[in-house]
Amino acid sequence: MSDRTIVIVGSGQAGGWAAQTLRSDGFDGRVVLIGDEPHRPYERPPLSKAVLAGDVHPDTTYLQKSEAFDALNLDWRPDVSATRIDRAAKRLHLSRGEPIHYDSLILCTGGRARRLGIPGSDLPGVFTLRSIGDAAALGAALVAGKRLLVVGGGWIGLEVAATARKKGLDVTVVEAMGRLCERTVPAEISSYLLRLHTAHGVQVELGAGIEQLAQGPGEELTATLGDGRKLACDVVLFGVGLIANDELAREAGLACEGGVLVDSQCRTSDLDILAAGDVAVWHCDWAYRRMRLESWQNAQEQGIAAARAALGTTVNHQPLPWFWSDQYDVNLQIFGVPTPRHQVVVRGDVDSNSFVMFFLDADKVAAALGPNAARDLRFARRLIERRTSVDPQQLAELQVPLSKL
Ligand SMILES: Cc1cc2nc3c(=O)[nH]c(=O)nc-3n(C[C@H](O)[C@H](O)[C@H](O)COP(=O)(O)OP(=O)(O)OC[C@H]3O[C@@H](n4cnc5c(N)ncnc54)[C@H](O)[C@@H]3O)c2cc1C
Repeated sequence: MSDRTIVIVGSGQAGGWAAQTLRSDGFDGRVVLIGDEPHRPYERPPLSKAVLAGDVHPDTTYLQKSEAFDALNLDWRPDVSATRIDRAAKRLHLSRGEPIHYDSLILCTGGRARRLGIPGSDLPGVFTLRSIGDAAALGAALVAGKRLLVVGGGWIGLEVAATARKKGLDVTVVEAMGRLCERTVPAEISSYLLRLHTAHGVQVELGAGIEQLAQGPGEELTATLGDGRKLACDVVLFGVGLIANDELAREAGLACEGGVLVDSQCRTSDLDILAAGDVAVWHCDWAYRRMRLESWQNAQEQGIAAARAALGTTVNHQPLPWFWSDQYDVNLQIFGVPTPRHQVVVRGDVDSNSFVMFFLDADKVAAALGPNAARDLRFARRLIERRTSVDPQQLAELQVPLSKL
């Protein structure tokens, strides 16, 4: 039996996969899993969708069934925070209990939802959404007939808007930028999302910053926009991005850049410390730049890769980035990282409910995305991964099956 101790900080999706991989790859030493939530590892995507809608119980999000989790034989510490890394002594200090010695440390601390620093942002009717606890609190507030104000027209905000409409609330989305999901998708997709939400009765205000929230005793919440307009509402959700939980790493002197810097083996600037998931910043060869990916796929695959690297296996974490979002009856998927420098080829009609946009780098597909196009996107993914040379005209031609390319 190995006398090594591997400590994982953060029992979210990446941490859960790291722990499971250590065992499935045969590590029989001590695995300590530290998590500041009361739950065993779970997946977050349903929190803005089926869990928030009340269609499924939060327990359905757990990565492992309880027997399978127990069988991993972990030293699991729920409700405990890691507070300091002593790199010289290879010890991790905790909010409760003795410090723990580690041989390898895997940081899977994810991130926390940003709250705007405006007056009234901590009023009782104002929420963020990151955890099962957040989904329970927000879900209870989303009562039919109430008015929800979503601050931020990004993925979380739009998914919550769609779920709230399904639950019968009046919904307004205010977005400070000129279009929805501006940072991640091209203008055609922003327009598609705008049409989708407007058709479902959501009021969308673009280029509208929020200045303050206020509520007198027994009064409704009032939001004041940058142009002075006032919006009355009952519930507010901030969907304004994520802050990487990299303080532990920064205070320990590890290289950080809006997250913990890792190489393609998930190693930080200290070779005994690895990082994975939403907290990790790595050079994505597909995008030719460093990035921090907030996606289900990356959390799982990087958690697995970090565990393997901790066991001494050579890994090369370079998955083709994949992200999806479900809103109403629309499933939108993005493979790769589209950029304005790519040549755009559209397959189908961007004004319809289903189409694919390809992003070409010379004669190769670098990225593809689209709503309700899972089958075509499956083939698009292969074209990207295999770096197949393509003819743009054939890509655009609906009569030519992508499988033929
Ligand atoms: C509402 C919602 C919907 C989403 N929908 C989608 C989707 O549709 N598609 C998609 O691809 N992605 C989606 N995502 C993103 C995806 O869920 C995340 O990328 C993924 O959860 C990241 O996993 P992680 O393990 O890196 O971080 P997390 O899951 O955040 O886990 C980190 C854990 O570490 C804990 N922690 C932090 N610091 C410490 C500390 N010092 N000590 C102990 N514990 C600590 C945190 O509390 C947390 O439990 C969604 C995310 C959210 C919140």
